[in-house]
This record gives sequence, structure tokens and C-alpha cells, in this order.
Amino acid sequence: MKKNLRFIIALWISKAAMLLQKLLGMNASYFPGKIAIKLCPDFLGRIDKPETVITVTGTNGKTTCCNMLLDVLGENGFDVLNNKAGSNVDAGIASSLISDASLFGRVKKKIAVFEVDERSSLKIYAYVHPDYAVCTNLFRDSIGRNAHTEFISSIIEKALPDDTFMILNADDPISSQLKPDNKRKYFSLARLDSDGTECRNIINDVRCCPKCGGKIEYEFVRYHHIGKMHCTECDFKSPEPDFCAVPDWDKGTFTVQTADGVEEYPLMSASKFNTYNQITVVALLRTFGLSAEAIAASFAHMSIVKSRYTKLEKNGIEVITNMTKGQNPVACSIVFDYIREEEGTKEVVVMLDDKTYRETTEIVTWVFDADFEFLNDESISRVVACGVRVHDYHLRLLLAGIPEEKLRCVENEQDAPSQLILDGTDKVFILHDLTTPDETKRVRDGVLAEIEKRGASK
Ligand SMILES: [Zn+2]
Repeated sequence: MKKNLRFIIALWISKAAMLLQKLLGMNASYFPGKIAIKLCPDFLGRIDKPETVITVTGTNGKTTCCNMLLDVLGENGFDVLNNKAGSNVDAGIASSLISDASLFGRVKKKIAVFEVDERSSLKIYAYVHPDYAVCTNLFRDSIGRNAHTEFISSIIEKALPDDTFMILNADDPISSQLKPDNKRKYFSLARLDSDGTECRNIINDVRCCPKCGGKIEYEFVRYHHIGKMHCTECDFKSPEPDFCAVPDWDKGTFTVQTADGVEEYPLMSASKFNTYNQITVVALLRTFGLSAEAIAASFAHMSIVKSRYTKLEKNGIEVITNMTKGQNPVACSIVFDYIREEEGTKEVVVMLDDKTYRETTEIVTWVFDADFEFLNDESISRVVACGVRVHDYHLRLLLAGIPEEKLRCVENEQDAPSQLILDGTDKVFILHDLTTPDETKRVRDGVLAEIEKRGASK
């Protein structure tokens, strides 16, 4: 698409808006991009894009994968354009391209990594053609926006160009089927001791063969529909991975067998979902041409972003904050499962009010799709529910079979610390949403103060 007068005017006005935002000390956001698209609807098509464009989409893990990609590429000398500061919809990507563009829409950076919201695929891929497209996984997500996995995979399928190189999850029978005629590499996480042969979750979006509707058999199921499977009635089966991570939790590493030999990488945390993020990054960057040594060297000193996970200790009691996306039953279930598997005596604060809708949303169906049953475990001595939706959580926790005497309910999050047992507890988990960082920090500080006040210890 050529640059026309309308495009140039939209670019200048959005650049002026961006400058004004900077002068006022406001954070970069999707706002300048929104103006540009409003003034010139095909703005994204007309602005120059870097030579190499990498996009990352999927229900879970896309932000973490993007952050890791930016860190590793940055350390290896690449100056990467990204939409980290804005948003992952079309206006966010437009904003980042505007910030890098010259006054005539010429791009300066050579490479871009864009996080792409699945729901925005049609609006983005119509104009931004990725050289590499990563899809981490596709799960049932917030029902109000994303409807169903088949709906989401169908729009990604329709939107992505036929010549984009795909990086896909071999263990996900939904996203692994995207763009079957495109070039591709698959990543996977090898069978783990904790895997089973029957799905233990409430929701499983692949209950029969996606190709013929026949009966499927799992060689192993990790969670929901993630695992290795084949159809008993046709040739449908999980694809063979090109990059399969074999973790050694005790050693803190994972290995990948490739045609060139065995590669070893340090693990950033001993969790299966974070290992998926790391192997996703390895699959993309090895395909892109980075060496295993360069990637491993970056992993060695990287940590998970503090807004998503923090761990402090007081009198031997670990106080952990863990981002747990409300409205997203799979993300919640994975965290609940992780807590259950952690060693020691645990207490959990559930503060999952989604403030995206200013106050709270009335859509609570997801609460019944999330496996709160995982919190019904002998090792968990108390669950404190809080926030304006406290009564919904109370009901859900009772339905999960958690005894009433283990439960405490408070409307104000700041009252949660006083409801904990603390003495004799090894770990306190505070599960919070993306939109409440300040409240979370106050609750965490409240727990630390309460430990001190009571002289509680492990
Ligand atoms: Zn079949």
C-alpha cells in the first residue's frame, strides 16, 4: 500500500498526540495508534514495517514469551521494535510503529516482536504480515470476548498469510493444526511424572477427534487438552516435535535433542508452564538463527517479571504473589494445580476481581470452569476469598468440597492477612489479577506485618 495524504496527516496528528503524552508524563499507550486508525482506517497497511516481523499469539504465555524474546534478542545485539508499552490490539501495534517511524512513515528498526491479541487477528494480519508467527496454545478464555476455541482458531487461520513460518505447540491438538500448508516447527514438553492418561480438569475442549469425530486416546494428558494423543479411527495424531524440552527439575535445566546434538538450557523456574514458555522461545530463536549458547547465556540471568511473581520470606514463611488471570479458567486451574503440588503447608488468598470493567464484571461463569477443586487438598490449611465477588468465590469453594472451617471470606482485600493462620505455615500464596498491582502489594505487605506482629514462624 502506498502512502497517501490521508496517511501522512494521520501520522503527523498521532505523532503530535504521542509527543503531547510524553510532555504530560503520560505512559505510552494505544491512544496515538487509535487516532491514526480512526483518521486513516488502513493506516497499518500504509506505514512501513521492519524487515523481519515476529508475532506471538495464543491464550496463555504470550506476554512472558514476548518479554523473553525481547531480552534474548536485545542481549544479542538486535534493536527490536515491540508493543510492550502499549497494547496487543491493532491500535497498540500502530502506536509502536508510529513511535519508530520518520515523519514520512519510514521505519528505522530492522526487526519487530509484536504480541497479538487472538481476537484482533483479522484487523492486524490484514496489514502486518509476520515472517514468523508463534502460537503458544489455544484454550477456552474469557467467554465474553473469545467465545470458543474453534471460533478463535478459525479467525487466526483466516487472517494469517500462507507464507508465514509457524512456530506451534505439538502438545496442543487445537493450535498445532493452524495453517497446515505453511512451513512450521513444533515445540513440546516431554512426558512428565505428573502427567496422567485421563483429563483431571473440568473443561477439555478436545473430547473427540478434530478430524473425524472419532474416539481419541491419550498417551498422556498434562492439563485440559494438552498432551499427546491419537485418533483410534483415523490417522489424526499429535505432530512430532522438532524441539522437545526434557526438564531436570533438580538440576534446574532442560535439554533439547536436535540434529546437531544435545542442547542444554537453564530453567527460569521449576514449573511446567514456564518451561513451555522457554521451549517456545528456543524453537523460535533457533529457527531464526540464534545459537543455543547465546540463548542459554541469556536464560541464565533472566527472571520472571516482578509484576507476575514475587517471593519474600519472613520468619521462614514464604509469601508469594502469583498473577492469576481471572476470567481465564485455564490460567487459574494451572496455578491452583501448581499450588497443590508445592511442598509444605500452604494458605491461599484468592483476590481475583477483574477491575478491567472499572468495578467488576457480572460474568462469573468462568468460576465454574476453573478447577477450584485443586485447592481442596490436605496440604492447604486455609483459603481466604476476598473482593466484591467474595460470595461467588465462597459458593464455588464450598462446591469444590473445601470444608467450611478452612474458609474465610472478607469483602475488603486488606482484611485478608488477619484471616490467615500463619504460625506453622510454610507458604502463603496471594493470587491476584493483572489489574490490581497496588492492592496486591498492600496485601503482601499486610501478610508480612501480620507475621511480625504475631511472631508467627514456619
Ligand atoms: Zn479421527
